[in-house]
Amino acid sequence: MSKSDFLKTIKDEDVEYVDIRFTDPRGKLQHVTVMSHEVDEDFLDEGFMFDGSSIQGWKSIDQSDMKLLPDTDSAYMDPFYAEKTLAVHCTVVEPDTGERYDRDPRGTARNAEDYLKSSGVGDNSFFGPEAEFFLFDDVRYSVEMNKVSYYVDAQDASWNTDTEYEMGNMGHRPGVKGGYFPVNPIDDGQDIRSEMLSTMKRIGMKVDKHHHEVASCQHELGMIFSSLVDQADNLQKYKYIIHNVAHAYGKSATFMPKPVAGDNGTGMHVNMSIWKDGKPLFAGDKYADLSDEALFYIGGILKHAKALNAFTNPSTNSYKRLIPGFEAPVLRAYSARNRSGCVRIPWSESPKGKRVEARFPDPSANPYLCFAALLMAGIDGIKNKIHPGEAMDKDLYDLPPEELAGIPTVCSSLREAMDELEKDHEFLLAGDVFTKSQLEGYMDLKWEEIYAYEHTPHPVEFKLYYGC
Ligand code: GLN
Ligand code: MG
Ligand code: MG
Ligand code: MG
Repeated sequence: MSKSDFLKTIKDEDVEYVDIRFTDPRGKLQHVTVMSHEVDEDFLDEGFMFDGSSIQGWKSIDQSDMKLLPDTDSAYMDPFYAEKTLAVHCTVVEPDTGERYDRDPRGTARNAEDYLKSSGVGDNSFFGPEAEFFLFDDVRYSVEMNKVSYYVDAQDASWNTDTEYEMGNMGHRPGVKGGYFPVNPIDDGQDIRSEMLSTMKRIGMKVDKHHHEVASCQHELGMIFSSLVDQADNLQKYKYIIHNVAHAYGKSATFMPKPVAGDNGTGMHVNMSIWKDGKPLFAGDKYADLSDEALFYIGGILKHAKALNAFTNPSTNSYKRLIPGFEAPVLRAYSARNRSGCVRIPWSESPKGKRVEARFPDPSANPYLCFAALLMAGIDGIKNKIHPGEAMDKDLYDLPPEELAGIPTVCSSLREAMDELEKDHEFLLAGDVFTKSQLEGYMDLKWEEIYAYEHTPHPVEFKLYYGC
């Protein structure tokens, strides 16, 4: 909505609070609540001062003043608060110059949209993420040096190794990979998913469907495609609503990529297309009715996939998903037919729907950085005419070992992804979309995670080595 509609809504609807929201580098939505009588035209033009020093990866304590600039296009009535509250997503700007703060993910995503235009490659990019999630009854964990207790009380996670769980009524539980998609009572997520999707619709999001996913207690809701920043905003709303509706049902939702060993993990396929001069740039007469630009876009994604992993698969847990046998890709290949490669070209009825689907991302990603990085790799592919090679129209896991060995893969650890980003990041710096200092700050955060993970004894190690 426009700024004037925003102010009008506050008046007409007796809005009591405005919730100002932004996203930190790790991708978590943050907020501060302001009484609506404080919010006027000046507030919307000037922004709201806050202390950015306690956000990890942002400014140090000696230069911590920052400004949150509301983007009223993203506004929505909060569906959960008891008091009437209008929520709005913000971009972080420098208080003195008003320029975008280079470590603000939403600002980076805007930069990427601007760069697409200034590079002449296209006018608009569209994103359709498919973020899956699990719903658990309860998850408790505590990992300490020399004392590990780790257990998942998940209604269906009985096969999980190192799991203690309370038995419920297991009469109609889906088995491993058995969730896609028999009707209830095997699917016991119908009402909760419907409530999630309807809540999204009520706040103005464009949504179309929901279903159980392949793993037991795994789900997916469908959002209609939208432009980059708008869709990253939507993904934040998607997660916010899923977490809170689950919470209201006494359950917890998780977007972590591999919560259950031995069953499918949680992906976030990202469907993408570019439009130029009012036409779909990806439709053409090459392989799978793609254009040269679409093939080059795929070429860019496959070439930079290992560096992209730093943003598309940014958790240590991400790499437990990227293994063979669970519908998650490992090999850097593309195809219109099979789903075992990193990029698939979904069938589409009309040229307008022509898109490429990156299958390796997962929803632990910060959506602003994930979409921006994917777009930058694609633009690099188009500008430098990077051909992706031949499509692989066979099940890649059925290939003889000699042939398989010749196909490059994605990263196998967050450590590797950080090393790859260190080596390959020029494509992100084009047009100052990402900055060197931002990448350094981001990598510092991720190295903290890597060390925390690598330096902590794991339950599996206790199982294997405790008795040695
Ligand atoms: N869960 C699978 C993944 O990890 C995807 C399954 C699907 O949507 N077909 O990517
Ligand atoms: Mg899907
Ligand atoms: Mg899915
Ligand atoms: Mg898909």
